[in-house]
Amino acid sequence: MESIFQKTLKNEIFLRGRGLHTGLECGLRICPLNAGSGVIFFSEDMAPTMPIPASWRFVRDVCHNVTLGREGVRIRTVEHLLSALAILGVDNCAIHVTGGEVPLLGGAAQEFLDAIDAAGTILFPGKRTVLRLSRPVWIDQGERYLLALPCEDFRVSCSIEFANKAIGYQACHFVVDEEVYRRGIARARTFGFAEDLEWMRERGLALGGDYDSVLLYAKDGSVKTEPRYADECARHKVLDMIGDLSLLGSPLRAHIIGHKIGHSLSVALAEKIALSGDARDSAMQEFCGSAQP
Ligand SMILES: [Zn+2]
Repeated sequence: MESIFQKTLKNEIFLRGRGLHTGLECGLRICPLNAGSGVIFFSEDMAPTMPIPASWRFVRDVCHNVTLGREGVRIRTVEHLLSALAILGVDNCAIHVTGGEVPLLGGAAQEFLDAIDAAGTILFPGKRTVLRLSRPVWIDQGERYLLALPCEDFRVSCSIEFANKAIGYQACHFVVDEEVYRRGIARARTFGFAEDLEWMRERGLALGGDYDSVLLYAKDGSVKTEPRYADECARHKVLDMIGDLSLLGSPLRAHIIGHKIGHSLSVALAEKIALSGDARDSAMQEFCGSAQP
């Protein structure tokens, strides 16, 4: 049963690994924070004392990852860690990043779940703000769309479609809670296409990663990595989306329905929900206060 109270970590977490995009060795130190603080990133290399809240307001890039930033400081690939923190209800923590990117680790959220489980969590007396919708909110970008419907729990219906036959059409549906996430979503890895690698590397993307942590597909439809689920790509899209929607700053109760979804759609949906006036994110407002991105 999901807690109605705010939560933080009992102990600090230390993790190291290569960044998917920078290819550099990156480090994480995640520390407990008091209730009402939210999830806050700090760049240890660039500006160790400047808070970068995990909020849609601080998103600076949504191309093949979510990058948060403030005043020229950037932290890349925050989405898998945010997804794990969100599903375990860790509302408050400080994430100190070295190397400018959250490590890819296994390419999914399992290693982050394991680290949070090992660190333990504690509850605060303060209740969580839960966001509910009274009317549908949607974003459409041509054939790609993402729709949030009012719902008393959090459920996701997601489909993707790629010309690459190894992926093709995949659809999945989850009424998401911690158990469902652990069983069916946490181990779904990020994926990519061998033919895109050159283009991405010219732009400083995908310099890290390997065949164990990234599901890599070739043009001819062959798979370089053995999938864990027949619909692993669609499941990974759900994992990403849970991380992206956590940028609202509070858990969302809604039925999310999407086709060909990606970070640009889900971050735009988070912004539209936050600005709709229909749902309130009071906890994040409290911390950000007058802070301008
Ligand atoms: Zn991802």
